[in-house]
Amino acid sequence: MTSTLHNDNVFNLMQRLEPARALFSEKQMKNREMLLNLTNDLQTSLEIDDILHLFLNRIRTLVPVDGLTYTHEETAIHFTSTLQGKHKISYHLNSDQGDLGVLVFTRNHRYQPKELSIMENLIPCLRYPLRNALKYHQAITASTTDALTQCGNRQALDAALDREIALAQRDQTPLSVILFDFDHFKRINDQYGHPGGDQVLRLACANIKNSMRKTDLLFRYGGEEFVILLHKTNQDGALKVAERIRRQIESDNIIFKGQPIPITISLGLATWQEYDGINSIIERADKALYKAKRLGRNQVCSGHSVV
Ligand code: GH3
Ligand code: MG
Ligand code: MG
Repeated sequence: MTSTLHNDNVFNLMQRLEPARALFSEKQMKNREMLLNLTNDLQTSLEIDDILHLFLNRIRTLVPVDGLTYTHEETAIHFTSTLQGKHKISYHLNSDQGDLGVLVFTRNHRYQPKELSIMENLIPCLRYPLRNALKYHQAITASTTDALTQCGNRQALDAALDREIALAQRDQTPLSVILFDFDHFKRINDQYGHPGGDQVLRLACANIKNSMRKTDLLFRYGGEEFVILLHKTNQDGALKVAERIRRQIESDNIIFKGQPIPITISLGLATWQEYDGINSIIERADKALYKAKRLGRNQVCSGHSVV
């Protein structure tokens, strides 16, 4: 069953609460106060997960609901609570500023009309908290994403490397870094113009991302240089990944204005060693990349074999 809730403006309603006191019954006033409290509580966090957990816990005090999923397509946000059931009721939330996503409540037996009416009374309380949390998420994502390629930017790389190194240290798991650079990129810009060069960066990154594991991460290091962090991957594994990416880039057809643009990349890799920090691991990968360039480009070199 699907239902769309349009703007019943809870916030404005609450603002008018005081003068309304004389107009409403005790029961109606209690309902409005409860909605106001819920809206306020939901606004104590800008994290979507927190907001949805809080909302689910609150709704469960009134209606037995097993699970909740939430999907917002534009930001690719997907939330699923641990418990789920086979009966579903879904609500599409809208605001004057656009789509706020779809909520699906699940449980193992059907919802009664009375229960649905209680849920529909509460759901509008999510509108402002969700809208603010989505805006916050979009702002954070934009500040850590490279606009051209949609890869993480340098700031995101530093944070991720910090985190990955701490994990490798704590769990004694391997971690590898690939640094790669497009070969003779100046010639690509000269031949196809800057928009042609941009198209190469955009499409090559999209192709690489599509072929990576979910846990591996791609960042733009600067210019036409990129970094891949390979979670729980030792040197042998990283060499295989690097070689696969090199071959993929060499054989992918990137088309610009109907013309294929042949491209190759050179790759340097380094695997985390005890006492490595962000700078030292990147430095080894950089030296290996430099070596790959020196040896003729379109190849992979590893940090250990740097001479
Ligand atoms: P090498 O094989 O030694 O790496 O040769 P190269 O020509 O790629 O070397 P270099 O690093 O000197 O040149 C990189 C070029 O990439 C220069 C710069 O204008 C271009 N570039 C950097 N960022 C972008 C971008 O966002 N878009 C486009 N179109 N070009 C870019
Ligand atoms: Mg280059
Ligand atoms: Mg370069």
